[in-house]
Amino acid sequence: MSNESLLKKEFKHSDVQRVRNLVNKDFTAGTKQQTGYKKSFEYHKEGDIWEEGGKRWTIKNGIKQNITKLDKFKKEATIPLRCPKCGGPMKHHLAKKMYKIHGFCFDPCTVEMEADLRKAGLYEQYEKRMMSGNMKAFADDIEAWVTETISTSDNFVTEDGTIENWGGMSKGKMNEILKGMKEYVEYIREKA
Ligand SMILES: [Zn+2]
Repeated sequence: MSNESLLKKEFKHSDVQRVRNLVNKDFTAGTKQQTGYKKSFEYHKEGDIWEEGGKRWTIKNGIKQNITKLDKFKKEATIPLRCPKCGGPMKHHLAKKMYKIHGFCFDPCTVEMEADLRKAGLYEQYEKRMMSGNMKAFADDIEAWVTETISTSDNFVTEDGTIENWGGMSKGKMNEILKGMKEYVEYIREKA
């Protein structure tokens, strides 16, 4: 097929998709991006839920809507009875608030994490980011810190190679903190 006829064919697909979008009263959806994907030519009617481009969509009142965010909101609004991290009860008056921010309880999970952040010298940044509600930026802070810590790890390897002191911390504790931070970053990224 020549380039020209290929182009013509794509134009045709775009047109078909545009008509479909109009049928679905989806005036905002771009048509170019969907060209060539068989899946996007499926016809969706009111109330259908489907996945497309890694997101979940539905048609509500004739309008195509991304419901991925709605799902996240629902997940957030439901506070579990037990902390998903430690399994403890979510009874502390700060537990719900902390769950919404971190995805785990206040005591011990948040308390322990904050203690780790203090040791890592990240607490001030953490407080600042939390107050401005910018936890995504904090995920970047942590990631930069982890990268830097790993790249300078020679600084705290002792001669016998067994105990590595890093601000008075053992290697085991250090690795535990790194692991916890990694999980935390993943959580913030997914949620934010
Ligand atoms: Zn917990």
